[in-house]
Amino acid sequence: MSRKPIIAGNWKMNKTLAEAKAFAEAVKGKAPSADLVDTVIGSPALFLAPLADILKDDVIQLAAQNAYFENAGAFTGENSPAAIADLGIEYIIIGHSERREYFHETDEDINKKAKAIIANGVTPIICCGETLETYEAGKTAEWVEGQITAALKDLTPEQVSNLVIAYEPIWAIGTGKSADANTADETCGVVRTTVEKLYGKAVSEAVRIQYGGSVKPENVAEYMSKENVDGALVGGASLEADSFLALLDFVK
Ligand code: PGA
Repeated sequence: MSRKPIIAGNWKMNKTLAEAKAFAEAVKGKAPSADLVDTVIGSPALFLAPLADILKDDVIQLAAQNAYFENAGAFTGENSPAAIADLGIEYIIIGHSERREYFHETDEDINKKAKAIIANGVTPIICCGETLETYEAGKTAEWVEGQITAALKDLTPEQVSNLVIAYEPIWAIGTGKSADANTADETCGVVRTTVEKLYGKAVSEAVRIQYGGSVKPENVAEYMSKENVDGALVGGASLEADSFLALLDFVK
């Protein structure tokens, strides 16, 4: 696999400031070289500045879990992608299924967010994935193709080459029921084929695609052995420092 793996924790709405700082201190200096893997912590926005301070000379990078598509203005409660970029944060997760479901984010919002994030020099991690109902109806491929096509609308080939897409079947998130590695590979392959249809082979070979949904230290290596899986987006198993670091053992 020529693409560099990317393992990203998604803490979701967990931890206090003290807990976030203790985690950063515990993992600092312990992740493998950035030549081998990109290691990312997706933290609540509240903790990004202190975490960036603790990890400023470390290989571990940070992600916000969301951002608005405007840089400033009367948008009470939102976080500006420009302000996130200004903190030196490298990634912003967008379109997570929890944001789509509970906060009614649409494909159009996600496309606007992707553009705003890229314009600020930050890398979006664009999530997609189907419900159990869609999975059982055998409609995963068309669903994911639709989400990706909408999310990437009007982006340039160069922009798409550099972003990250996370395929997360909703039925596998936080349920302990992970998609098996072949299923994950197959649908990550659908994402890659969709990118190829839209942007051509070179872009589809460059874009990095993560699998997410009940990934843990015990199963991460199997996912990472698959051709179309370039990384993992990990919720529950990223919350403890030891477990987070163990997710990186496959590179050793
Ligand atoms: P999980 O969450 O690893 O707890 O299933 C993954 C995610 O929602 O990103």
